[in-house]
Amino acid sequence: MSEDDEGGSPVCFLPNVCPACGRLTDTEPRPDTCPECGADLPDVY
Ligand SMILES: [Zn+2]
Repeated sequence: MSEDDEGGSPVCFLPNVCPACGRLTDTEPRPDTCPECGADLPDVY
């Protein structure tokens, strides 16, 4: 139900998108956890 990788882009291309709820976090600095659901946001560099 949550498969939205239809663009061919790797998941690591979206470091600011919560993997749990899909919320886009555009605050700076980027928080370690999702402000929406509290899930850990992966460090992508
Ligand atoms: Zn979240």
